[in-house]
Amino acid sequence: MVNKNPNGEFSEVDTLLVSSGRDPHSNFGFVNPPVYHGSTVLFPTAEKLIARDQTYLYGRRGTPTSDALEQALTRLHGGFASKVVSSGLGAITTALLSFVEGGDHILVSDSVYRPTRMFCNGMLGKFGVETTYYDPLIGAGIEALVRPNTKLIFTECPGSQTMEMQDIPAIVGVARKHGCLVAMDNTWPTPLFFDAFGHGIDIAVQAGTKYVVGHSDVMIGSVTVTEELWPKLHEGFDLIGQCAGPDDIYLALRGLRTMGVRLERHMKSGIEIAQWLDDRPEVDLVLHPALPSAPGHDIWKRDFTGASGLFSVVLKPVSQANLYAFLNSLELFGMGYSWGGYESLVVPFKPGAYRSATTWTHEGPALRFHIGLESVEDLKRDLEAGFEQMAAAR
Ligand SMILES: *Cc1c(COP(=O)(O)O)cnc(C)c1O
Repeated sequence: MVNKNPNGEFSEVDTLLVSSGRDPHSNFGFVNPPVYHGSTVLFPTAEKLIARDQTYLYGRRGTPTSDALEQALTRLHGGFASKVVSSGLGAITTALLSFVEGGDHILVSDSVYRPTRMFCNGMLGKFGVETTYYDPLIGAGIEALVRPNTKLIFTECPGSQTMEMQDIPAIVGVARKHGCLVAMDNTWPTPLFFDAFGHGIDIAVQAGTKYVVGHSDVMIGSVTVTEELWPKLHEGFDLIGQCAGPDDIYLALRGLRTMGVRLERHMKSGIEIAQWLDDRPEVDLVLHPALPSAPGHDIWKRDFTGASGLFSVVLKPVSQANLYAFLNSLELFGMGYSWGGYESLVVPFKPGAYRSATTWTHEGPALRFHIGLESVEDLKRDLEAGFEQMAAAR
C-alpha cells in the first residue's frame, strides 16, 4: 500500500498533504514514489491471465502511480475513493456520464464553469439528458425545479467568474428529500477550504490543473465519491477510457506536497489585493467572498475555512480603449486562461453573453484576477501604473 495511514492515524491536513500517497520504505527509502510508465502488464501464468488475478491489469486502468495520487486526494477530500483523469473538464464529463442516462433531468448552476455548460448542452442533450440551469443563489428554492426524473444537481462554489456563493446545505437538503445526487466542482476552495463530503456532497470534482499542480504546467482532474457511488464511477471510468499520463500524475503528487503553504499565501495576498482594489476609485464592486462587504460573505464564513487567490472585480464604466490600456500595461499580471499557478493573471469576462437563468446587470467591465506568489507591494504598483495608463488613454 502506498498510503501509510489508511486508518486515519494522521488527520491534520498539513500532515496529510505531506504523507498521503507515498511509502518510502516500500521504495528503497526514496522519499517520492517511482513513476510507472506502462501499457502492458505481464501476468506470470496463463491461469492468472485468464482469471485476471492481479492487482494491475492494464496501464489505462490504473498503475501504482495513479493509485498514489488517488489515495492522497481521497484522504484530503474525506471521500471513499477517487479516479484521476486527464483534465478538470474530463473529471466533470466522467462524473456526469457515469451517473446520468437518457431520460434523466439534471439541474446545473447558471454560474458553472462554461465548458461544463457546453458539455451539458452539446453532448448530454444528444443522449436525451435534459439540463435546466438555476440561479446559483436559489438555495432551498431549488425544490421548485426538481422533477420526478431529476437525477443530479450540479453545483460550483463560488461560481466561475462571478463568484456567487451557493447555499450547499440547503441544496443538499432538497436533494436528499427527492433522492437526487449532488455533485460539486470544488476547484476554487480545494478540499482544504471546503469539506464537500462533510456538507453532504456525493461527487466532488477537482480541476487539479489549478492548485494541486500549482505551476501552470500540467492538465489533470479528479473525481472523488462516496462508498455507495464508487462502483458506478469505477465502471464509468473504465468504459470511457480517460486516463492521465504518469508524469503528469507525478507532478500533481509533487504539487500536493506544497499546496497548503501555497494556498495560505494565495489567500493572504488575494485578500490584501482585493481590499486594496475595493478602495480604488476605478472599482465599482469586488467579488471576493472573504471580504465582509462582498456578496455571499455570510455563506463563505459559515461553510468555508479559507479562500484561494481567485476573485473578480467590476470596474466603473470605461471605454474599451481605456480598459485595454490598463490590461496591456500590466507587467506582472499575465493575460490567459486557467489559474492556480504561482503567477498572477487577469482576464476580462462577459457572463451576460451566455448565462440563461440570471441576468448580469453591471455596466462596467468585469475582470477576473488570480493573485500569485509575487510580492503584494509589486502587484499593487503594477495595478496602480495600469490605472494611470487607463486614465491617460483616450
Ligand atoms: C479550469 C477549471 C475546470 C477545468 O479544468 P481543466 O483541467 O482546465 O480541464 C473545471 N472547473 C473549474 C472551476 C475550473 O476553473
